[in-house]
Amino acid sequence: MTKQWDYIIVGAGSAGCVMAERLSADGKSQVLVLEAGGENDSFWVTLPKGVAKLVKKPQHMWAYHVAQPRDPRANDPGDGEVWIRGKGLGGSSSINGMIWSRGEPADYDAWEAEAGATGWNGASMTQAFLELEDHAAGPGPMRGSGGLVRVDPACFKYPLAERMIEAGEAQGLARVDDLNGRSGPRVGYYSHNIRKGKRDSSARTYLAAARKRPNVTVMTGVMAQRIVFAGTRAVGLDATVDGKPRRFDCAGEIVVSAGAMESPLLLERSGIGDAGRLEAAGIPLVAHSPDVGEKMIEHLSLSIPFRLDHGKGTNRSFFGIGAALAMLRYLLRGNGVLATGPFEVGAFRNVAHPDGRTDAQFYLGGYTFKVGDDKDPVPLDKIDPKPGVTIYGQLLRLTSESSVHATGPGAEDAPDIRHNFLTTEHDRRSAIALVRAMRAYVRAAPLNRMVGRELVPGAEVESDEDILAMFRSLSSCGLHAIRSCRMGGDPDAVVDPRLRVNGVQGVRVADCSIMPWHVTGNTNAPAMAVGLRGAKLMLEDRG
Ligand SMILES: Cc1cc2nc3c(=O)[nH]c(=O)nc-3n(C[C@H](O)[C@H](O)[C@H](O)COP(=O)(O)OP(=O)(O)OC[C@H]3O[C@@H](n4cnc5c(N)ncnc54)[C@H](O)[C@@H]3O)c2cc1C
Repeated sequence: MTKQWDYIIVGAGSAGCVMAERLSADGKSQVLVLEAGGENDSFWVTLPKGVAKLVKKPQHMWAYHVAQPRDPRANDPGDGEVWIRGKGLGGSSSINGMIWSRGEPADYDAWEAEAGATGWNGASMTQAFLELEDHAAGPGPMRGSGGLVRVDPACFKYPLAERMIEAGEAQGLARVDDLNGRSGPRVGYYSHNIRKGKRDSSARTYLAAARKRPNVTVMTGVMAQRIVFAGTRAVGLDATVDGKPRRFDCAGEIVVSAGAMESPLLLERSGIGDAGRLEAAGIPLVAHSPDVGEKMIEHLSLSIPFRLDHGKGTNRSFFGIGAALAMLRYLLRGNGVLATGPFEVGAFRNVAHPDGRTDAQFYLGGYTFKVGDDKDPVPLDKIDPKPGVTIYGQLLRLTSESSVHATGPGAEDAPDIRHNFLTTEHDRRSAIALVRAMRAYVRAAPLNRMVGRELVPGAEVESDEDILAMFRSLSSCGLHAIRSCRMGGDPDAVVDPRLRVNGVQGVRVADCSIMPWHVTGNTNAPAMAVGLRGAKLMLEDRG
């Protein structure tokens, strides 16, 4: 007789790893974790600045080709836009910038009040963050202690980074010690999930703890193809293990934690989706659910690099003797520029949102990437040898809706992804305001005395029309897609507020895809909190 699993978790990413630890904590439930990628045990995954070495490596990343040109008037079928996501144990938390950003409590209150996600609010999500965190500054009303994820606000500090913070203060932003400690306009050093100089991914924290238990099995190199149903009850999962087909039987529940791109694709391949769309893709229908893969929202980002005319940045730490010294320091003491994420300084502010809510996030780093071409204007794997400053701006409250859909029954069928960026007047106005605010930031005192020429796109791009055209072609997806399996209280929601997939039994979704609205910040900590709260709901339902 084949083994009957109590829980099968698809995807060992930010949310999936937390799920695995929580669902197995009783020591009895048989938990199977299936991950399409590998172990992610390379030195470059644990080294915080190692991310530049991982970009474009298929063993660590999914690369999604978006077949829709940025310029709606263009005739070509796409302009080579690629969205990346993490693959392998830890998922995107194994390749991300490690910025530990919770979002604001009011974001989650809107999940409950506006999306009908009963029980998901500022209070319940704050509680989840407190449980996850092991904050270096010790416990506090907004800081957890004793959790598995080290949260460290003491990132690499150098004089230029101080000047970056002062420039924010000069523009009226409140300087704070902990960007997660309050809401509204603020500037300060980012906290990172880094422990003793090593990336504290969901795999190194929650999955590592789960794996010590005999009731947990983790398999890598397993691509979930489709959920198997008896009527509308899930009874198993078909997958390919290192390319060969295999079925896993499930007596309990299947948790889909494959991320905002893959979770809707797995549901569609399993027959859960819009009836007409599934028929066109040749997939037999199990449950009609029109919003699967629809209404997805992303953050949009732009990097503007500037030459540094006075003062020292960190570019020289990535070349020749500077790089050798930085690596030596890292290996001997576990600190320095290599031991922190890509950006040290962060700021939150309003640039265009009509109700004055925070709608933009800035990331500042004392280095520049090389200037690339139109397709890749700021290549993330190539550092500029000359000194510079980069401001990376992100729009947090966009209204244009993207989509991701299966085009056939197999995981090998390339998905159809539409970004639909900048299709609303709100988003176009926000983009122009963002660029103007980013430029104003680096031209504020005292940075203005140090920063020279704007390298990309160049100060000559000035009119609203030119800025919008530039933003359309040079901005990139914010790596924070959500809502492709949206949670809500309405019948068209893909999952209900207990994360149960509507229309079937025995399947839940727990990852970024369920988030009904964006949070004011990044999505790793929120995804882990979704895993934690989701597991709690499942254990409550089990009784
Ligand atoms: C380059 C980059 C930088 C980022 N920087 C930050 C940052 O600094 N701070 C921050 O908070 N957020 C950051 N983010 C965003 C954040 O990391 C993600 O939003 C978050 O990790 C997503 O969590 P998730 O659980 O939804 O999915 P993921 O963590 O992406 O996990 C999904 C997992 O499912 C697996 N999978 C998918 N399909 C299948 C299948 N069919 N079968 C088996 N396994 C499957 C994938 O391989 C993956 O491991 C960044 C993201 C990227 C890509």
